[in-house]
Amino acid sequence: MSENFNVSEVFGENVFNDAVMQERLPKKVYKKLKEVIQEDRELDLETADVVAHEMKEWAIEKGATHYSHWFQPLTGYTAEKHDSFITAPMSNGKVLMSFSGKELIKGEPDASSFPSGGLRATFEARGYTAWDCTSPAFVRQDAAGATLCIPTAFCSYTGEALDQKTPLLRSMEAINEQSLRLIRLFGNATSKRVTPSVGAEQEYFLVDHDKYLKRKDLIFTGRTLFGAMPPKGQELDDHYFGAIRERIAAYMRDVNIELWKLGVSAKTQHNEAAPAQHELAPIYAEVNIAVDHNQLVMETLKKVAGRHGLRCLLHEKPFAGVNGSGKHNNWSLITDDGINLLDPGKTPHENIQFLLVLTCILKAVDKHADLLRESAADAGNDHRLGANEAPPAIISIFLGEQLQDVMSQLISTGEATRSLKGEVLQTGVKSLPDFMKDATDRNRTSPFAFTGNKFEFRMVGSNDSIAAPNVVLNTIVAEAFSDVCDILENAEDFERAVHDLIKKQASEHQRIVFNGNGYSHEWIEEAERRGLPHINNMVDAVPALTTEKAVALFEKFNVFTRAELESRGEILYENYAKALNIEARAMIDMAGKQIIPVVIKYTTLLANSINAVTAACDANVSTQIELLQKVSDLLVEVKEALANLIEATDKASAVSEGREQAICYRDEVKTAMDALRAPVDQLEMIVDKEMWPMPSYGDLIFEV
Ligand code: ADP
Ligand code: MG
Repeated sequence: MSENFNVSEVFGENVFNDAVMQERLPKKVYKKLKEVIQEDRELDLETADVVAHEMKEWAIEKGATHYSHWFQPLTGYTAEKHDSFITAPMSNGKVLMSFSGKELIKGEPDASSFPSGGLRATFEARGYTAWDCTSPAFVRQDAAGATLCIPTAFCSYTGEALDQKTPLLRSMEAINEQSLRLIRLFGNATSKRVTPSVGAEQEYFLVDHDKYLKRKDLIFTGRTLFGAMPPKGQELDDHYFGAIRERIAAYMRDVNIELWKLGVSAKTQHNEAAPAQHELAPIYAEVNIAVDHNQLVMETLKKVAGRHGLRCLLHEKPFAGVNGSGKHNNWSLITDDGINLLDPGKTPHENIQFLLVLTCILKAVDKHADLLRESAADAGNDHRLGANEAPPAIISIFLGEQLQDVMSQLISTGEATRSLKGEVLQTGVKSLPDFMKDATDRNRTSPFAFTGNKFEFRMVGSNDSIAAPNVVLNTIVAEAFSDVCDILENAEDFERAVHDLIKKQASEHQRIVFNGNGYSHEWIEEAERRGLPHINNMVDAVPALTTEKAVALFEKFNVFTRAELESRGEILYENYAKALNIEARAMIDMAGKQIIPVVIKYTTLLANSINAVTAACDANVSTQIELLQKVSDLLVEVKEALANLIEATDKASAVSEGREQAICYRDEVKTAMDALRAPVDQLEMIVDKEMWPMPSYGDLIFEV
């Protein structure tokens, strides 16, 4: 890569973005498409044909031979089906490259291989993908050549959502509509749209590819299932750090360039939390684009790693005893003309609107804490949340000292001063100073923190899509906005009504605010006293999706039907059971085929040594004997624990799919896995390192 690399030249070079559309599409078509994008109109086939043709021509210039409807089924990953542009050969034996509007708008992947949680049985077997023209198409270059990727939503033929994107787009509609109602009441007559903006900070680990290949657990499950902690002190070894920087920096540079080409505004940075762990944050974007971009970030991190002899681990907890990885979902609400509703603003008037928005969010998060928690639940994240490294499993909101002070004033003031006297707002509090931007103390232990002009939801797992948390955020805040609008639109005295609402919401939802140390044991007790839900595993998080409260919420705003929610619950239980089943089977395989044989060899070595030394002279062999005794005892423990794990796994896999099966995996299989890991990790500390059948934690995280 040349030294004077020009970012602005490559940025977005593989994206069919606004500039490209403006340049290539006939004016009339461009205008029509823009209307469709901005105003949610239907795209007519005639326009679609022209767009498809130009898109194809552009993609072919970039080397594309295939196109793909790119979508996000409920597997947690993206899916795609590649079709070539080639049409049936003509009579002269040549082929044409074609791509029609119909092919652009709609695709039919084989839906049966994607999870539907029973929806397919109830509704219609087939599914289709539909172009989401609000997220630009792009050309992806990789070993398979170049492919035109079209971001799509994935639904059943009767319209049930089978993916992450459909509910996300629906929730964006809901929050747009309710936000517009709210800002109109405050006199904004000009903004046309309010869209959630999201910036997702992505954490990940890098390990050496060759070492990775020697770990079956990493290959099959993405995390280590065995592994003793490296000796203390190694962490501080500067020697390794020098070496890390070179290799990783080259990798990051490559990742950045790939992402820039795809229009993802990546800015990387080191993360000091754990060795071999890093972070990448893009500049925030509209939420549906941010969700797509985060998928591209994850794909790119993995793809580029291969070129550098590395492997990128996105699992939430690849190494026990070392910090895990998450994703910080920064969220705000911004109008099409650039007004951020989460910005305290400069005038008292803006301050009042901000305080109403803020207390609405307090109410939304308090009322639906269980849903937010669920949106971050996955099997991998269970190892993180509440483990003194990530936010606790209890949802609370961090406001910072100054905003907390404002809240306290709101709650304690009696009658409001109606007139704006000096710096005092009609809510009875001092006008908000311009403090928010810098003064907010970044409380790292809070799962939901106000950071100046946005909220940062920090529970999301590193491997998860950020779609689900944003669907929940958009919808619960839409509900809170809708509630206050219902009152304010009918209020005789608007200002008085606003004041009363701010005060009421601040007082009624105080319990969700916590500015202290979320890792402390006292907080868990305190949260319990406050009646906040403490859900510390995925299986217990899932029922939040189908409570009457949740069904009423999502149905009211047309985000999910009851059937869709139920199906999602089923899929989550299935995903959990599958993840644990694979982990258990990988452990059984490794313990039986790799670890036990090596330990037996080692005991033989010790026994031979004892015999040989004793035969040679009468030297003291008590060390060898002690070691042999200890290793043999642990070996018995391993054998028993392995038998128990096999039994538990067979039992769990025989339970019929659903909640009951997930519970069986959580309570019986997981316990048996922990019981097997303990003696194996002890053995790793004793057995000759040369003999141990896989790279150690030290090898993996300190020698990248
Ligand atoms: P840090 O948390 O590392 O100090 P920042 O707070 O600047 O960094 O940004 C973290 C992420 O939040 C970035 O992806 C950034 O683009 C995003 N972000 C910044 N402002 C907003 C906003 N108003 N809405 C949503 N995301 C934002
Ligand atoms: Mg952050």
